[in-house]
Amino acid sequence: LASRSFHPEPSRIEVRGVEIGGGRPIMMAGPCSVESREQILESAHAVKAAGGNILRGGAFKPRSSPYSFQGLGEEGLKLLAEARDETGLPIISEVMDPENLELVAEYVDILQLGARNMQNFHLLKKIGRINKPVMLKRGLSATIEEWLMSAEYILSEGNPHVILCERGIRTFETHTRNTLDLSAVPVIKHLSHLPIIVDPSHGTGICRYVAPMSRAAIAAGADGLMVEVHPKPEEALSDGPQSLTLENFSVLMDELASIQGIE
Ligand code: PEP
Ligand code: MN
Repeated sequence: LASRSFHPEPSRIEVRGVEIGGGRPIMMAGPCSVESREQILESAHAVKAAGGNILRGGAFKPRSSPYSFQGLGEEGLKLLAEARDETGLPIISEVMDPENLELVAEYVDILQLGARNMQNFHLLKKIGRINKPVMLKRGLSATIEEWLMSAEYILSEGNPHVILCERGIRTFETHTRNTLDLSAVPVIKHLSHLPIIVDPSHGTGICRYVAPMSRAAIAAGADGLMVEVHPKPEEALSDGPQSLTLENFSVLMDELASIQGIE
């Protein structure tokens, strides 16, 4: 069902007037985690002002350590919804386990299925049974074939609104947090009709590399980007080193507008 031979035309997914896969790249941006009302509202207004299309923010966080900040849970989702009300930006947030699916789906416009859960088949099937867009991140060490098979789990249960997200894979390289596999973009375009978003923030792990890899992703044909931003990256409760300041995000948006008309 994910294959181009089944569905030759690119799939377009519409979320509150924003079209993903329609030929015009879109920008999803926001903090790694929702931390407070002030933090998410300030971020949301800056994302909107810079021309971003969708607001991201984690409420349920998949942290490597159980002692790290785990997210605000439902409170975080409420704050995201408030930011949507204020800015009009659709919102995306991660669902980590099947028990919380209904709760997260009640608030968000797009569900995010994280890299660590790419092969959580129970969660994939459950998401397949609801009618809501889902962004499926590539697993930490997943091949493109495995990633498309995970998409197949969602599609085959009846939910056609699948967006793929390349977020870097594990390699031997240590100068970046992950190795952003931009060749996945043309490979997915060749194999599949599903839209593909690139996440250069998790892909590199370092804010300095986010702008060049964003430009490269657009040049490679990505349908959009997901970028982490924070009003004060040095104080972020998660992923500060890879988060752009709100000012640098605005600079990036201007650069992208001049190469591709990303708005
Ligand atoms: C995130 O988007 O904050 C996140 C945890 O991403 P990933 O699942 O790609 O690590
Ligand atoms: Mn993050």
